[in-house]
Amino acid sequence: MSRLASRFRLWPVIVAIAWSVLAQPGYAATSITNGAAFLDQTESLRTTDHPRFVQMLAQIHQEAPRLTSREQWHLRYLDAWETMFEGDYTKSEVMLHEVIDHSGDAGLAAKASALLLTNLAANRRYEEAFALANHVTTWLPAVKDPQVRFMLLMNLSQMLDIADQTDLAIKYAHMMEDAVPPGETLCRPRSLQAAALFNAKHLTSSSPELQQAIDTCVAAGQPILANTMWLVLSSLYLDENQPAKAMALLDRIMPSIRTNHYYPHMLSAQVQRAQAYAKLGDDSNARTAALAAVAMSGPNDINEWLKDDYEVLYQVEKRQGHLADALAAYEHYVIQDKGHLNDISARTLAYAATQQHLLVQKLETDSLSKQNSILRLQQALATKAVETSRLYIALLLVVLVSIVFWLFRLKRSQLRFKQLSCLDGLTGILNHQHFVSEAARALHLLEKKSGSACLISIDLDYFKQVNDTHGHAIGDAVLQHTVTICKQHLRTSDLFGRLGGEEFGILLVDCSSDQGTAIADRIRKAIEATPVDVDGSVVSFSASFGVACTDTSGYELQRLCREADAALYRAKRTGRNRVITDAEWAFDGSLEA
Ligand code: GH3
Ligand code: MG
Ligand code: MG
Repeated sequence: MSRLASRFRLWPVIVAIAWSVLAQPGYAATSITNGAAFLDQTESLRTTDHPRFVQMLAQIHQEAPRLTSREQWHLRYLDAWETMFEGDYTKSEVMLHEVIDHSGDAGLAAKASALLLTNLAANRRYEEAFALANHVTTWLPAVKDPQVRFMLLMNLSQMLDIADQTDLAIKYAHMMEDAVPPGETLCRPRSLQAAALFNAKHLTSSSPELQQAIDTCVAAGQPILANTMWLVLSSLYLDENQPAKAMALLDRIMPSIRTNHYYPHMLSAQVQRAQAYAKLGDDSNARTAALAAVAMSGPNDINEWLKDDYEVLYQVEKRQGHLADALAAYEHYVIQDKGHLNDISARTLAYAATQQHLLVQKLETDSLSKQNSILRLQQALATKAVETSRLYIALLLVVLVSIVFWLFRLKRSQLRFKQLSCLDGLTGILNHQHFVSEAARALHLLEKKSGSACLISIDLDYFKQVNDTHGHAIGDAVLQHTVTICKQHLRTSDLFGRLGGEEFGILLVDCSSDQGTAIADRIRKAIEATPVDVDGSVVSFSASFGVACTDTSGYELQRLCREADAALYRAKRTGRNRVITDAEWAFDGSLEA
């Protein structure tokens, strides 16, 4: 027998599994009190009790206006299923697309997609089927409903098997094994696995995978799937040239095949029987069986069973010397073989085209993502450049601020230094040198505007005794105390300096001779009235004052000093603790003279 005949009919295996998966445990019929529950019950009866399913579908159609939108879409899905079952694939396809595109129900859309996959494949619209299978694959991770997920995985496994992608088909079947939902068994995943292995010619009659699939489906009460697997086994017996075993097996499963009346199984079993007789050398029975298979088919049917069937007929007639019949059988064989090969190449081409399309999409996506990553890199570079220039600016600002701060501190310390160099260390008032220069400048300005000023020379009385009696530290405190008292009687515009030891000078700006004398006397009285109290040592002291004013002495500082000193000297001479102005002194001096 030709090797062509050894290739098992993949398509019936696929269709058998696809239809049988729709069969779920049935429920007792009920009246419609709950639309959703009624629809679920109806759906469960599709293949277990098809007449009841049709009846319930008609019943719920009468209630359709009362159903919710979700329930109406569920009903639409069941209508699509029934339409497909009745063989109107075109109408069913339109309905399924409606459910997928407009129901807004992800679970229902996934179920409708799975059904559409079977629909497209059954009509040999492989390219669309593979495109949809690819699409469905992208949904898979998001599908949470275990029933729907199981159904999608199953359809994907079948589609990949049709495309001769057996490794992938097995992979999806394995995924099904890990996700068997309640009410399901391992029968379907294992059948799919065995079918894929068989398609890849990796199966023998003693393969454990096949026996496991048979045992699982028998135990699960899935006669149609079990028969599919038995037929795989008998086909393998025939391939391995064990026709007697094949015949015995066919005899054993025939009652179940007749009971279920599943056409692909009926035809397949009939053809295998013809092949077994031919191999056993029983040409007469082989011819009868082969002709019975032809009689079961339509005149335009093309499939792999009929190819094998005509091959049996051709060999039998040739052996018997019926050359005209042999030629007729051979012509049929060629037509079937061509149709079958066309189908295989259509599947292969469609799968290749879909993958090519996906590859182009992937390339486009890759080049887009490359462009995007270049853009992202450029953006990142630009951002980095901005960050870097910002950093430079910040750094520059920090340096600038530091320089400014440093310059400011430098200036401040210079000023402080200058100030300190202008001030007397003990009392904090102007030192002699600075007092002289400031006083000269002030007098110069006053002279310009013809203002008046008085210079007061102060000398503490018997200060040496204070030092001697109380110590130098108390002497210092007396000097500081004197400065504090003086300041209380001065304006900010007045100049005050320590001229040396216990001698002080005051320049009263914008001040007449009388005012100057009065201020000097107020200070004298304050000093006399305010003794120093340091750690319990109370020290009373006094001071003598000499006053010289611009009214009589002019604006030259040296002359003013000289005359103030002269007045002071007179104050000392006349008993201390008193104020003498230059005018008085001039008067006195004229008297003495
Ligand atoms: P009078 O002016 O009334 O004639 O008597 P006097 O004792 O004040 O005269 P004299 O000018 O002789 O004394 C001034 C004293 O001032 C001498 C010196 O020891 C003291 N003296 C000068 N500078 C300081 C100083 O910074 N601190 C202290 N504690 N004493 C100073
Ligand atoms: Mg003195
Ligand atoms: Mg003195």
